[in-house]
Amino acid sequence: MAATPRLVLATHNQGKLRELRELLRGQVPGLDVDTQVVDAGAVGAPDVKETGTTFAENSLLKAREVARHTGLLAIADDSGLAVDVLGGAPGIFSARWSGTHGNDGANLALLLAQLSDIDADHRGAGFVCAAALASPDGSLEVVEHGELRGTLLAAPRGEGGFGYDPILQPLGMDRSCAELAPAEKNAISHRGQAFRALLPHIISALA
Ligand code: IMP
Repeated sequence: MAATPRLVLATHNQGKLRELRELLRGQVPGLDVDTQVVDAGAVGAPDVKETGTTFAENSLLKAREVARHTGLLAIADDSGLAVDVLGGAPGIFSARWSGTHGNDGANLALLLAQLSDIDADHRGAGFVCAAALASPDGSLEVVEHGELRGTLLAAPRGEGGFGYDPILQPLGMDRSCAELAPAEKNAISHRGQAFRALLPHIISALA
């Protein structure tokens, strides 16, 4: 008999699902993370429009809607790159900065062009993430945050990761995020921090 899902992550991104499963493995007695922690597609969850104006608002909108629709405890995240000299932009518009949603190459190229006159001392930025947890009846709603600070390189470096990874060099490191192994990035990433901060709430909700 197929296991009943108990927790849904509002994403189709398998990398994020894998991260969440590893975080939860062995943490909740009786929870089989490989079959009971599922993505949006597995339970027919709707794609929720990100109509909020902050990462926190968007993550909560998504978690709330998916929980209500599926009857399951739901987690959603919203993330992006905030550049100091651009007053926090691209921010919630990171995925569509160049005008086309999800065109990582064009987004990154446009941002580099916009920063071409900015010297190394003024290229501070951070990946930021809000992760929300919501229950179907609305009695539980929690949002946690994470941030990975760094410096924006003048040109992309590395083949790994996605999005703006090739141009963000985390503070204290001499490699870009695209040059880090996945586990190395998860340990310091904005999303890793936000998911880890949600962990106690997830554990008590599923206990
Ligand atoms: P989402 O919240 O996962 O949809 O991410 C929104 C956008 O922010 C992505 O399309 C990327 O452009 C950017 N982004 C978020 N997290 C990361 C990251 O860890 N590395 C690189 N880019 C990121």
